[in-house]
Amino acid sequence: LEAKEEFRHKTLATDVMQPRRGDPLLSVLTESRMTVEEVERLIADTTYSGFPVVISQQSPRLVGFVLRRDLVISLENARRNQEGVVSMSPILFTECDPPMSPSAPPAVKLRSILDLSPFTVTVHTPMEIVVDIFRKLGLRQCLVIQNGRLLGIITKKDILKHMAQMANRDPDSILFN
Ligand code: ADP
Repeated sequence: LEAKEEFRHKTLATDVMQPRRGDPLLSVLTESRMTVEEVERLIADTTYSGFPVVISQQSPRLVGFVLRRDLVISLENARRNQEGVVSMSPILFTECDPPMSPSAPPAVKLRSILDLSPFTVTVHTPMEIVVDIFRKLGLRQCLVIQNGRLLGIITKKDILKHMAQMANRDPDSILFN
């Protein structure tokens, strides 16, 4: 991000985050309730660079963030090298294994590829601050939370797109100094 560009008026994280109202929901993984097949399908059906991991669809509390490339490699490895892994094997990002029937296929444990403290802001965080944090920490994305619930994601490209839109609509709204 160009250090010289500044947001002058109060754009908030909620104005830039994806998905927008009416768009398909955020693609998330759950920490213990998905199978290898479901995660493989999500990877095949999307192109996102990463996926937030939440407790469950009903309780979208953020657990961490996993990069697509790490997920792809780990699933390929598990399919190839881990004894007994099948499409119905559960994927676990949890620390402890949930109780499972002895006849269930072995779980694929992926906690080691989970970023447990992805950067988060709230819907009310001014974009000026978000941009500053992206620059200083060299972030690629950050997650947007409201009252503990995961609502959206902002990538570096989302910020650049938003800046370009603002410059088109109202060239005075961005300061080039
Ligand atoms: P980039 O913004 O660099 O192209 P991505 O390919 O990860 O990065 O994201 C493409 C778009 O999809 C961005 O607008 C981003 O906000 C959004 N996005 C990223 N990850 C997800 C996700 N897991 N679910 C829904 N939308 C996402």
